[in-house]
Amino acid sequence: MSAQCLHVSTPAALARVAVVLVRPSHPGNVGACARAMRVMGLRELSIVAPRHAGVNAHADAVAFASHALDVLEAARSFDSLESAVADATLVIGVSAEPREFAPEPREPEIAAREALDELEANEQHRVAFVFGTERTGLSVAESQRCQSLCAIPGEPGYHSLNLSQAVQLIAYVLRREALSRVARPTRAPPSSHAAQASVEALFEHLERALVAIGCLDPSHPKKLMPRLRRLFGRARLEPEEVELLRGVCTEAERTAARARQGAR
Ligand code: SAH
Repeated sequence: MSAQCLHVSTPAALARVAVVLVRPSHPGNVGACARAMRVMGLRELSIVAPRHAGVNAHADAVAFASHALDVLEAARSFDSLESAVADATLVIGVSAEPREFAPEPREPEIAAREALDELEANEQHRVAFVFGTERTGLSVAESQRCQSLCAIPGEPGYHSLNLSQAVQLIAYVLRREALSRVARPTRAPPSSHAAQASVEALFEHLERALVAIGCLDPSHPKKLMPRLRRLFGRARLEPEEVELLRGVCTEAERTAARARQGAR
C-alpha cells in the first residue's frame, strides 16, 4: 500500500470539534496549532485573550502556520473561556496536571472516545478541547469549567509538551477514533445535552438562589459551587433538566423573598 492511500478524508463529525487556546503567549505557537489541526482535518480554532491582540495576523503565527493559513485566518477571538465554549455541549480540558475539584484526568484515547460518543449521539452536539497557556497551563477555575479532563501521560517530573505538540497529539488520536468509527453504525445511544451557555446561566441562578435561602455565604463561599459544578458536569444535563432546575431556583428565590417579607 502506498503512503498516499493512508491519507483519507476527514470524517464529517470532526467539523463539530473546536480547539480552544486559552491566553496563548507566543504567536508562533498559535500558528503551529493551526497547522497541527489542519493536517488532522480540524478547522475550528478559537483563541481566548491572547497576549498579542490580533495574534492570528502576527508574522510568527503566519510563518508557523505554513499552509494552514485558512484555519489561522478563520480563527475566532473571545474575551473569556465561557464565551468561547458557549455553544459546546461537551468541554474537555487538556491539562498536564490534575486540578482541585476538576474532573479526574484521563488518557487521550478515552477522551477521544468520549468526544466521538458525544458527536455521534446527536448532530447538534459540539465538543471543545481546551488548552491552557504555555507557562502555567489551565487555571483551577478554567479546569472546573470542563466536564472532562484529559492528560497526555509522560515521564514523571517532565511531562509538559509544547502547546502545539499537545494539540497535534490530541488531534491525531481524535482523528484515528473518528476514522475507526466510519464503517460502524452509531454505538452511542441518542441523547441531547445542554449547551454551555445555558449551563453557565443555571450556575449563576443556582448561586443566587443558594445565597437567597442561606445555603451559601457570599463572603465565605467555601467550595460549594466548584463541587456543584463537578456534580452537574458528571451528570451531563439535558436542556429540559436545565429548565427544571431553573424553575426550582426561581421558587427558592420567591420563597426566600416571602419569608423575608413575613419577618418584617
Ligand atoms: N506546566 C503547564 C504546562 C503548560 S503547556 C501545565 O501545568 O499544564 C501548555 C498547554 O499544553 C497545557 O495547558 C495543556 O493544554 C497542553 N499540554 C502540555 N503538556 C501536556 C500533557 N502532558 N498533557 C496534557 N496537556 C498538555
